[in-house]
Amino acid sequence: MRKLRKPPLRILFVGSECTPLIKSGGLGDVVGALSKALARLGHEVQVVIPLYSAINRTTYPLTPTDMRLTARVGADLIEGRVWTVTLPKSAVPVIAIEQPELFDREGLYGTRGSDYSDNLRRFSFFSQAALEYIAQSGFYPDIIHVHDWQAALACAQLRHGAFRQEPWAANARLVYTIHNLAYQGLFSREQWSDTGLPDYLFGIDGLEFYGQINCLKGGLITSDSITTVSPTYAEEIQTPEEGCGLDGILRQRRDRLTGILNGIDIDEWNPRTDPHLAAHFSAGRLAGKAICRQALQRRCGLPERPDMLIGMVQRLAEQKGFDLVLKALDTLMHLPIQIAVLGTGDLIYQRQLQERAKQFPEKLSVNLVFDNALAHQIEGGADSFLMPSRFEPCGLNQMYSMRYGTVPIVRKVGGLADTVTDMTPETLADRSAMGFSFEPYTVPALIEAVQRALAVFQDPPVWMELIQNDMAQDFSWGRSAEAYISVYEQARARGA
Ligand code: ADP
Repeated sequence: MRKLRKPPLRILFVGSECTPLIKSGGLGDVVGALSKALARLGHEVQVVIPLYSAINRTTYPLTPTDMRLTARVGADLIEGRVWTVTLPKSAVPVIAIEQPELFDREGLYGTRGSDYSDNLRRFSFFSQAALEYIAQSGFYPDIIHVHDWQAALACAQLRHGAFRQEPWAANARLVYTIHNLAYQGLFSREQWSDTGLPDYLFGIDGLEFYGQINCLKGGLITSDSITTVSPTYAEEIQTPEEGCGLDGILRQRRDRLTGILNGIDIDEWNPRTDPHLAAHFSAGRLAGKAICRQALQRRCGLPERPDMLIGMVQRLAEQKGFDLVLKALDTLMHLPIQIAVLGTGDLIYQRQLQERAKQFPEKLSVNLVFDNALAHQIEGGADSFLMPSRFEPCGLNQMYSMRYGTVPIVRKVGGLADTVTDMTPETLADRSAMGFSFEPYTVPALIEAVQRALAVFQDPPVWMELIQNDMAQDFSWGRSAEAYISVYEQARARGA
């Protein structure tokens, strides 16, 4: 544990995912890894999540407590029960709120491509229960760090709900993190009573958004500080093009908005020890990577050719640029490359990708499942990794890729712009070159970037330089955790 310059802070995370217990994307990774990193710096951290039936109780032995949490949602008084478990490889307690009717479901937020119709009810209960937990447990935090729309109501509920007069509530500062502005938690105004909030908050200065309820907006207007997950994204979301209708508020609150790049969990993503890999490797001993490559080709049913093997692990969502990839495929499939895709999501992309995989069985492998082991195997075995995102708040896979010596090909947006330095003669000379980036969201730009990567891949000494530059990067959470502490301190100074 590091020595603290200031007294430790008490920090409560409220979020709907926490890796490794449960995740659907980057949000879960951040909640799990940042909470651990803050605890490692000596702070007292707890994490509150819903107890989904999808959490594996054998791997994560949750223990029931006597604590019961109740919250009024619409006309109902809903009761939940607190279970606890320690976050693996840490001393961070996870408080999991059990409410079978709301959280024993097939998916986290929906199933078969559509959201659950009672999501407002589910997450209003969760947010209120998190505050109730504070009140009952006596774990009075200096900072309540709230993540994404699913937990955002907790901010408004704290400042405008039953607890607002309590000394612990007045002392707590609220930090709200936007992991992805595109997901705002929009609901019809008829459901307002489910929020547990007073009627005066349904208005333009409150949570109203073009006649609907906007949970994320509630987080933006009631928190003391706002963060998002990369400096470039923090700028982008203040523009009408990328602000998803909330750019005005974000510009108004720009003095409270900070972009902090996510780190990655370097224990979980370590090519020296990764239990999912066929062989281990490091920057100095890369022989294992060739074994991983071969194992990946076998696993994906691709012939063992020396072609450049490109990995993609993404949600199949518009954000991730699959429309570009699908349009570029006819050209790409004529190059000496293979592509291994892992992803779940929009049916339209699933269908099209499957059809294309049938058309190019020796060149395109499509795996439509959520499979953490395969995600690791793709990072370990691929030569390069493609992320042609339309927008990308931070992105984690490009950082995993670099740690695994897998050269990223990315669109230059958001966190991808902040983490991947394009290869040019200059960046190669000063050893900052990490991969290949392209700017216009167009098929020719994507194809050109892949062709540039391919040309370098066919020049092994230069490719090796890129691999070495990539594997030398430090994407651990330490630095980001310090940046969050600064935000917490600023929020405290503001509230004092
Ligand atoms: P986002 O949060 O927008 O989904 P990120 O790149 O920030 O994107 O994080 C995605 C995370 O989810 C990564 O850890 C990635 O490996 C993982 N992931 C996404 N899809 C899958 C899948 N089908 N199987 C396994 N892991 C996945």
